[in-house]
Amino acid sequence: MMTVLGEIKPEKLGITMTHEHLLIDTYWITDRVDDLLNDEDIAVEELLLFKKAGGDSIVELTNGGLKRNPQALKRISERTGVNIIMGCGWYRGPYYPEEITYRSTDDLAQEMIADLTEGVEDSGIKAGIIGEIGVNLDYITPAEERVLRAAARAHNQTGKAVTLHAEYCSVGLDQLKILEEEGVDPERVIVGHADSFLNLNYHEEIYRRGAFIQFDGIGRDHIYPDGMRLKSLVELIKRGYVEKILLSTDRCRRSDLRLYGGKGYDHLLVEFIPKLKEAGITEREIEIMIVENPKIILS
Ligand SMILES: [Zn+2]
Repeated sequence: MMTVLGEIKPEKLGITMTHEHLLIDTYWITDRVDDLLNDEDIAVEELLLFKKAGGDSIVELTNGGLKRNPQALKRISERTGVNIIMGCGWYRGPYYPEEITYRSTDDLAQEMIADLTEGVEDSGIKAGIIGEIGVNLDYITPAEERVLRAAARAHNQTGKAVTLHAEYCSVGLDQLKILEEEGVDPERVIVGHADSFLNLNYHEEIYRRGAFIQFDGIGRDHIYPDGMRLKSLVELIKRGYVEKILLSTDRCRRSDLRLYGGKGYDHLLVEFIPKLKEAGITEREIEIMIVENPKIILS
């Protein structure tokens, strides 16, 4: 699998969070300074807490429209020793550059393929996953559909996984349908932010279709308290879905960081997983979610 420091053996991936951001700018759209992560030294310090807690790898999904910085990610990986798998493509409607409206679907696909196979621009630093590919609301706009289809075509060429942003509703199923129309096997797709809509029918349908159900908002209390997330997760595991579950914390704001009083990149490992164990989830089931499933989807 491909990291910002080059190819690594799948066994080296270890404990992995599959939806994170280290440097990201949504501030240019939201007008909230909290939504700007632009300090490499702080990113290093915060990521070292994840490493100290036993973490090995993260998937960094800052892509088009969010000010992705491959060189900085490379430096952060070198300084921390944490593997970083970088995303590509474009985020969601309001964040799209104007060119999305006039470039062809195949042209957008070509750019993602180049990011995955040759490197971003002339950096030589390659993306390792397609996404996060999002929709803004509970329906897919024409521009968002175009990016989704381009993501599908980039996947068909490269075999790299597609990771989706779908919040607060079941729109992830509509995204899956478009990917399926383009010939993508849902087994290679992650439906992200599935824990922003704690609806068992939604999660079961993602499972039935064969995609990964990603609980990536752990510790994000403004969406749901962790207690509700935990309850929902335990139910999914009890139903036998553990092989399709991924866990992460989607850090993307200053107030998410330990430095600013937030829960940090280590929250999953130091706080949430012990609670899962207390709730009866076994070591083996945890290993499947944070080691084996990431290895499968990122390979
Ligand atoms: Zn994200």
